Amino acid sequence: MKNVYQLTITIGCLFCFSGCALHDGITNYFNSTDHYLNFKQDQRVMYEPGAEEFAATAASELPLAIKKVESRQYSTFSDKIMIYVTKTPESFKKMTGRGVSAMMYRKSIFLSPKLLEKPDTIKLYIAHELSHLHLHQHLGDYAYLGIPSWFLEGLAAFVSDGGGAENVTDDEVMESIRSGNHFIPFENSGLRDLFRPRYASYFKIRHKFKHHLFYRQCMLFVSFLENEHPAQFKKFIIDLKNGIDFSDSFRISFEADAMTKWNEFKTKIIES
Ligand SMILES: [Zn+2]
Repeated sequence: MKNVYQLTITIGCLFCFSGCALHDGITNYFNSTDHYLNFKQDQRVMYEPGAEEFAATAASELPLAIKKVESRQYSTFSDKIMIYVTKTPESFKKMTGRGVSAMMYRKSIFLSPKLLEKPDTIKLYIAHELSHLHLHQHLGDYAYLGIPSWFLEGLAAFVSDGGGAENVTDDEVMESIRSGNHFIPFENSGLRDLFRPRYASYFKIRHKFKHHLFYRQCMLFVSFLENEHPAQFKKFIIDLKNGIDFSDSFRISFEADAMTKWNEFKTKIIES
């Protein structure tokens, strides 16, 4: 029973670009990775036969992305890093159950060759996923579930310089926030978010690239917190990694709740 519970939690911690699909996560969780090959120049990278060139690109971007995440999330990774490079979008979907470009999944990172359509974004997406993996390694399954999606995505987009949010501009974000077309920075996250993830669709965000708009809104809010209160922001991240509850960590560092800081952020945008 304990194993079933742990599996449920683990599946809930899958990173998804547009919200998790629990059923897909369960049915694909045990697919074998035995056919993946070691990329000789970097043992952290595994690839499907035929994807060696993509693996080489991923390996070349990995050191800088790791450095960026460790610097901006204030510590080294606490466990090994594994990157799985898939040959086709179909094999990525077969492994992960999702049709997205990249995922933190099974305590590793999976990359789809969809990323090759926009080579400049590969390093952004690797850093984005590494942000999730870094936090997950420090928190473990259960505590990771307690971090609201808007903060996980905002931090990952912020740390990666826009990974997952590159299809919309800051001006579009500001316009969307002025018009009320935005997420709400909730603080309570947990098991319920496995079944009804709170991403762009949950907040009824309207845009041609609604997921990117949601991510960029989250990113700019996280960026605001870091710019306005750098020391407090650092303490907040460190407290989170030490296992202090999200809501408590936020209040201890910023001496306000997330909604109060959001209203300050929104007022600043409206007045700009
Ligand atoms: Zn993400």
